[in-house]
Parts: sequence; structure tokens; C-alpha cells
Amino acid sequence: MTKLDAKIPEGSLAEKWTKYQSSVPLVNPANKRSLEIVIVGSGLAGASAAASLAELGYKVKVFCFQDSPRRAHSIAAQGGINAAKNYQNDGDSVFRLFYDTIKGGDYRAREANVHRLSEVSGNIIDQCVAQGVPFAREYGGLLSNRSFGGTQVQRTFYAAGQTGQQLLLGAYSALQRQVGMGNVELFARHEMLDVVMVDGKARGIIARDLVSGKLERHFGHAVLLCTGGYGNVFYLSTNAMGSNVTAAWKAHKKGAFFANPCYTQIHPTCIPVSGDHQSKLTLMSESPRNDGRIWVPKKQNDTRKAIDIPEEERDYYLERRYPAFGNLVPRDIASRAAKERCDAGYGVGASKMAVYLDFAAAIIRYGKGEANKRNLHNPSDEEIQAMGKEVVKEKYGNLFDMYKQITGENPYELPMRIYPAVHYTMGGLWVDYNLMTTIPGLYALGEANFSDHGANRLGASALMQGLADGYFVIPYTIGNYLASEIRTPAMSTDSEPFVAAEKEVRGQLEKLMNIKGTKPVDYFHKKLGLIMWNKCGMARNEKGLKEAIAEIQALQKEFWSNVRIPGELDNLNPELEKAARVADFLELGELMCIDALNRNESCGGHFREEFQTEDGEALRDDENYAYVAAWENKGDGKFELHKEELKYENIKIAQRSYK
Ligand SMILES: Cc1cc2nc3c(=O)[nH]c(=O)nc-3n(C[C@H](O)[C@H](O)[C@H](O)COP(=O)(O)OP(=O)(O)OC[C@H]3O[C@@H](n4cnc5c(N)ncnc54)[C@H](O)[C@@H]3O)c2cc1C
Repeated sequence: MTKLDAKIPEGSLAEKWTKYQSSVPLVNPANKRSLEIVIVGSGLAGASAAASLAELGYKVKVFCFQDSPRRAHSIAAQGGINAAKNYQNDGDSVFRLFYDTIKGGDYRAREANVHRLSEVSGNIIDQCVAQGVPFAREYGGLLSNRSFGGTQVQRTFYAAGQTGQQLLLGAYSALQRQVGMGNVELFARHEMLDVVMVDGKARGIIARDLVSGKLERHFGHAVLLCTGGYGNVFYLSTNAMGSNVTAAWKAHKKGAFFANPCYTQIHPTCIPVSGDHQSKLTLMSESPRNDGRIWVPKKQNDTRKAIDIPEEERDYYLERRYPAFGNLVPRDIASRAAKERCDAGYGVGASKMAVYLDFAAAIIRYGKGEANKRNLHNPSDEEIQAMGKEVVKEKYGNLFDMYKQITGENPYELPMRIYPAVHYTMGGLWVDYNLMTTIPGLYALGEANFSDHGANRLGASALMQGLADGYFVIPYTIGNYLASEIRTPAMSTDSEPFVAAEKEVRGQLEKLMNIKGTKPVDYFHKKLGLIMWNKCGMARNEKGLKEAIAEIQALQKEFWSNVRIPGELDNLNPELEKAARVADFLELGELMCIDALNRNESCGGHFREEFQTEDGEALRDDENYAYVAAWENKGDGKFELHKEELKYENIKIAQRSYK
């Protein structure tokens, strides 16, 4: 077992990044023009990295499988983006954001990375404002903030319920500017299917043109994977339908270690599953937890309508169990608490697998506030209701509309029904402080890496991390590598390593096409999703995980002998795209269970039923598991564990408490 070197700079925590920036080797402008960088992914991480690196003068190629970079999954992000600006004067600071993030991640993240993230968080907001991102503002013009889980300050910047979209439009504009100037070449509808290795370094990719079906070879002095998360291994998740693990998994098979694969975030605020034919779940954003109150009836199997249940017969269980943070406890805790109530028979709705998220009190509170502002004395209940609803509409209107369209119920009148769903993956490719994987020249940014969120990500911190990586970290850290590559000329893609890599990819695709079985790809994906949800989901145990591993192995065999893919290889073929992705999910799913089985403790999103406190909270084992589990692929379904010990020198490691 090797100890991994995270290359954390020397010095005190608060000085590491500043010192690094002043001492990192630089690449002069003339040399930058002859260095080529392949960037896979055009979400917030990829688009911001591409725009920044092209602005610096590097020659950049960007790939995405959607028809436009603007359709990357980042566009779906609703609630907001964190930054330690302390605009509210409520006690925020760089250290507090750092502290909240480490604690929120249940003490399983790397201190130096998280501190750097907190340091650059303020710059992200400035950069985005300069690009014209329309963040919500106060009357006086100052940017507005709201709260997200796991914090007691208001540090979340937002643009109604479409923050990701607005941030992505900003990054996309910066990217398109570089496309227009000829510094970035864009390859939409292209899917990367392998990394090309030359003498142990990443030197390019093999991509499939999804429209023509043709395979292409692309050279880069360095390759950046900004390819998002793998929550769709569960089939049902809040992720975009196309989100997948293929790029990261192919890199893993070429030598990049995969870190903490079992850390999955289950988001507490999603629209419950309604039937067997669903292919997607919908997030209601975390932001409604600012104002909405979560409750279930005090009586088991209560069949009354929500509005018929009097106040004293309602159990506001988060406020009861966690008075200090109430409805704003971190996601892992809120999700488990909902599951606990439903499993105990207090769930609501037809399936009884839901809890209420209720805005009635917020509507009245806002309505009264508006009445005061407007100098209305003795307003009627109807007037208060109407004014309150207007305020709620302004804050969450698009989310409420979405809920109404999906469920047919009006959340202004009735409490919403919500239940946890798979949402985000904290695990990903292992990267060092430079964001480089264990393959020299191969980087991972954004949700694709494992870096900053430990075992549980706090809300509004993914957008922050993606943009920190792309706008502010990689432009420095890539110089550390490329400064020693200035004598490497661009390689011909007719050279042997490229030809061999393409042949391997073609062989794999042909193998899939030639199975000619009887079951469609979705049949396998659904089956895998169910195994993962039941045995490696919100709660896991040794027996279930062992069963899951055996079941997934059997499913892999069935897939490779009985999947049916219509159409042709050298043509547009969405079923082939899906099949190749599901083949990788099947292998990843197994590794997730292996990782979950190895971690004999509970922490954050990883809840092993055998390891819990008397109150049912996650019970960590810091003596034996305060490490990042980084898995090396040894081929034939074998994985070797490497550990990165986590040292906490600036924070006291403790049992998490939100009470
Ligand atoms: C519904 C929802 C709401 C959310 N809301 C918030 C929020 O309010 N705040 C917050 O902080 N976070 C939020 N998140 C999380 C956040 O949106 C994501 O973590 C983040 O956007 C990921 O950005 P990314 O750039 O890493 O990846 P993505 O945006 O997923 O982009 C991945 C890119 O990689 C490309 N790609 C992937 N594989 C390949 C391949 N093999 N070949 C070519 N291209 C490839 C895709 O085409 C795409 O361009 C939310 C998540 C969901 C699901």
C-alpha cells in the first residue's frame, strides 16, 4: 500500500496558497502559445477553466457531449453559490467557511484544499458580477444572501432559483469570447472514450463524434477532466439524464486512482418517486429550507390531509432534534431523519415515503412584514396571505411552479411532499493540491474530483468549488507541470499510442454492438440502480454490501452476454452511448460497494448501520479511518486500496453536533 503525496505546500494554513502562487513556476507567453490543453467538459468547471487558460494564451480544445456547452448539467443548479464575503455582517469569515466545510464534510476533507477554496470564494463572486451574472440584490444594490444547510451565517449568493444557469451563461460567454478569438476550439456532441498515454503521461484523448459515430484522436500536452459527477449510477437521481462516469472511469482504468467512491450525497428536498416508469427525479433545491418547515404527523399512519392536522399534532422533527440548526442541518442529517420518520410509519402521501415541507408560516411572516413596510394597519388575513405569497413567489417562484407542474398540487396552498434522492457524488478522481490525478498531465476539476467536500458536501458549495477550480486554481497549478513541458513538441495523432488507443476503443464498441442480446440498456441500468439504492444508498450494512457486490457481478455478466443495442457503430446511436456508459457504471457500482464495505465507520453520506450513536447519528472512527481511500484499478475487477492520511492541524476534530 503506497502513501499518497498530496503535495500540500509548506507553511501555515492561511499562507500556503499565497506562497504557492508567488513561487509556482511560470510559463512565458510565447511558450504558452505552443502548449495545447484538452479540456473535457463545459460545465462550470470546464467552461471556467477553458476561458481562463485560453485567456492566458494556451491553445485549448473543449469537448462536451451536449449540443452546446450551455447544456452542461451545471445549468440545473438552483439554490446558490457560497462565498465568505460577510455582506450580512453576521460573523462570516474565510476561516468560518473553511471550518463549516470541514465539519460539514464530517472531517474527511483535506484542510489545505478547503482553506484555499474559502480564500478564493470571494473572488468568484466578483468575477461573476463583472461578467454580468444577475445575482439577487437588496434594495440598496448590495448583493443579497440566503442560508444553506450546515451554517449559521447567510453566505449564499443566488439568482432566483436558477443560479447555475446564470453562472454558466457567464462562464459560457467568457468561453465563447475565446472561441471567437480562435484560442479555443469547441467540439460539441463529442464523447471522450479514453485517455491516450505516452511514456506514462496523459497526452490526449480518443473521442467519438456522436453525430457521425466516427472516432477521433486529439493531442494535448495536458488533459483536464471536468466531467461532472456519477450519481446516475443509481439510475434515479436529480442529475441530468446524460451525466455519467465514463471519462473518469476510463482514466481510472489507465491509472488514475478513484477516491472515496462510496461518499454519495442524498438530498433531503426532492419530489418523491411516484412509480416504476420514472427515469428522473426532481430536486426542490435546498433554498426552500430557509423558510419552509419540515414536519410529519405525530400519529403513525395518519391519513388526514395536511391542512386538517392541527399544529399541536405535527412533529417538526428537525427543529425538535436539532434546535441550533433546525431545518438547516446538513443534507446527510436531514435525509436520514426523513428516512427514520418514514421507516417508523410517520410518512405522508400515497406512498407514505414522504414528509411535508410547509410554507404556511413563512407566508404569514412575510405577509405581516410587507404590511408593516406598506404602512397597512389591521390588514385582513387574505391581504396578509396575498402579500406573503408574493414574497415567496419572488424568492422561490420557479421552484414552486415546477413542483406544481410535476405533482399537480399547489404548494402555496398545501405543504409540499418531499423525500431524499441521490444528488451529488463527493467521491471522484483522486487529485493532489495541484488538481493533478495520479497520472502525470491528467487533471480533474469540479464534481469529477474528490477534493473538497469530504464525506458530505454543504449546499451551494459545488458551484463554488467548480468555479474556484476553473477560474482561480488551475490557471496557477497547471504552470507547475507545463513549465517543464515547453520542450515537448505537439505529437502527431498518427503515432503509435494514439492509433493503439483508438483501436482499443473501437474494439470495445464493436464488442458491445456484437452482443446482440435481448434486453435493452435501461433494463440493466434500472437493475443496477435498485441494487445501489437498496444496499449502498442512504443506509448500508456489511451483509447488504456483500450481497450487492455479488449481484452486481452477476449483472455485469448478464449485461455482457445479453444487452441489445440497435443501430450502427459508425452512425448516430444514442443506445450505444448509453450502453457504453452503463458498462462503466456497472464496474463503478461494484467499487462503490467495495469502498463502503471497507469503511467500517459512518461519516457524512456514508452511513453504515452497524456504526451509529445511541441517537442514530453517524459514528466515525477517527483512529482507523481518517484517510482518503484511493483505489487503484488492477484489471479484471480487482482494486488496490491506497491511503492518504488526513491531518487536522488547524481544526479540532470532534463528533459533529448541530443540536
Ligand atoms: C438539480 C441540481 C441542483 C443543484 N443545485 C446546486 C446549487 O444550487 N448549488 C451548488 O453549489 N451546487 C448545486 N448542484 C451541484 C452542481 O450543480 C454540480 O456539482 C456542478 O454543476 C458540477 O459542475 P461540473 O462543471 O463539475 O460538471 P457538469 O456541469 O456536470 O459538466 C460536465 C461536463 O462534462 C461533459 N462530459 C462528461 N463526460 C464526458 C465525456 N465522456 N466526453 C465529453 N464530455 C463529457 C458534459 O458534456 C458536461 O459539459 C446541483 C445539482 C443538481 C443535480
